[in-house]
Amino acid sequence: MIVDSLGRELRDLRISITDRCNFRCAFCMPEGKDYEFFPREELLSFEEIAKFVKAILPLGIKKVRLTGGEPLLRRHLENLISMLSELGVEDISLTTNGFLLKEKAEVLKSAGLKRVTVSLPSLRDEVLSKIVGREVKASQIIEGILKAIEVGLSPVKVNVCVVKGLNHEEIPEIARFFKGLGVVVRFIEFMDVGTLNGWSLDRVFSVREMLELLQRSFELEPVGRSYRGEVAERYRYKEDGLEVGFISSITQPFCGDCNRLRLTADGKLLTCLFAREGHDVKSLIRRGAKEEEIRDFVVSLWSKRKDRYSEERLELLKKGILPKKIEMFKVGG
Ligand code: SAM
Ligand code: SF4
Ligand code: SF4
Repeated sequence: MIVDSLGRELRDLRISITDRCNFRCAFCMPEGKDYEFFPREELLSFEEIAKFVKAILPLGIKKVRLTGGEPLLRRHLENLISMLSELGVEDISLTTNGFLLKEKAEVLKSAGLKRVTVSLPSLRDEVLSKIVGREVKASQIIEGILKAIEVGLSPVKVNVCVVKGLNHEEIPEIARFFKGLGVVVRFIEFMDVGTLNGWSLDRVFSVREMLELLQRSFELEPVGRSYRGEVAERYRYKEDGLEVGFISSITQPFCGDCNRLRLTADGKLLTCLFAREGHDVKSLIRRGAKEEEIRDFVVSLWSKRKDRYSEERLELLKKGILPKKIEMFKVGG
């Protein structure tokens, strides 16, 4: 176990395996901008990722989540999952936009994937297509979710990034739909990740507002956090006990429990979602460093860590400071 300078233990690893995406979500990677993607040779290979994970597992990593860009765009992702599974990573999960999930769910499950989170910002085809920047039917993503449930990826969760004026009115409708399927939804405040998504405080629909809106249709009661570092504020429907979560990175930051290390597709380590820059671990891996050296690099990085951007944000905004940050599709959420 290792702790940072604020006493936070390293437990979770989030690995972005590509910065490319088949969607252009308004809150992440809006259409009509020029994006530069990592050249293929800059991407860590699956063997390199596995080498990194193997080296740092003894530090107490409990969970590994694969993300992107869109992780299902990376060919033969199942091979990476098998490799991680063989290393003994028990909790391997994936965050995806769900577009390719129906065809991939079974092979991913067989390879050792445990859980999946599907991001779906609207159930209305027209709104969904507008948000994700291409024509998509919600039913296609829902079929992916149903397939994931069928093959036993459990639990399947749904993430809804809520942007005021874009999809906030749909919260009760989305909640009702997934309640019917027994699927846990997490509503997420629109975050100021990167600099391209046109974020401003007045486009944030706060968790308080989300709760108020939902409580007009459902009776909810709070559920305590199940472990330290859990990011979602959890509630349950009184009617059936199903949970619903809220992630309030903007209005109620939770940096005090943040235990997550991020690895980008091009081999940089980030100690915060809102980091300005990463720490190159790829060159260490590529020059054949021993596991111990890689581990020492992470220990040194983590022990110096002081990040608490979400708690500092409002002060910075008041002072008119807008720090440069890495884009969400490079960090992976
Ligand atoms: N492409 C995959 C997906 O969309 O699930 C994985 C990567 S995506 C960057 C990870 C998560 O970040 C998704 O749940 C997405 O909704 C969320 N997200 C993206 N931009 C966001 C923003 N500005 N604020 C809050 N959540 C955001
Ligand atoms: Fe792609 Fe996910 Fe970003 Fe949407 S949120 S543009 S699906 S990476
Ligand atoms: Fe963790 Fe950074 Fe988010 Fe705070 S702002 S919770 S330190 S990722």
